[in-house]
Amino acid sequence: MGAVVDDTVAEGPGRRFAVWVQGCSIRCPGCFNPHLWGPHGGTDIDAGELAARALAVPGIDGVTLLGGEPFEQARPLARFASLVAAQGLSVMTFSGFTYRELTAAGAPDGAAELLCATDLLVSGPYLADRPDIGRPWVGSTNQEFHFLTDRLRHVEAELTALPDRIEVRVAASGEVTVNGWAATDQLDALLADDFRRS
Ligand code: SF4
Repeated sequence: MGAVVDDTVAEGPGRRFAVWVQGCSIRCPGCFNPHLWGPHGGTDIDAGELAARALAVPGIDGVTLLGGEPFEQARPLARFASLVAAQGLSVMTFSGFTYRELTAAGAPDGAAELLCATDLLVSGPYLADRPDIGRPWVGSTNQEFHFLTDRLRHVEAELTALPDRIEVRVAASGEVTVNGWAATDQLDALLADDFRRS
């Protein structure tokens, strides 16, 4: 995996355990996470161990898988998703592949298993020339929401009313990390304002 945030409200509905996987061969121009493209550099972790970590976080509603490209390591993520779903957590998965690519012959190995373990899929590559400022969590207007089970279906009717959030974390070391999605100019303005006040 590339990174984990144990409890976030910026990566899907409610409070979520978010996992950024390491490795993505899609390489969308303008991707916010190019440091996650390479297949090396992440941390190896067993699916069961990761599930135990997620299940130990009190009060979360679900898990979110994003990247990197989750479907390029679909089998272990399907196991992780199944383990947390069995304990009542919802599963949201982002992919740079289209739904058609994920369900066609020649889909990534294990894609059917991960789709089966996913409640809400967000599919499609990031297109920098089609920014989406109307819907939460997605980066561009081509990306599609697929409610694969009823568990998160209540979100569908609220999509355009839900706020898009980003979270800015400042560690004791001074390291600043940001998750969630915002246009680059909005993010620059926000961080500039934040640091002027600090
Ligand atoms: S699929 Fe996602 S992680 Fe991969 S390049 Fe596109 S935006 Fe970046």
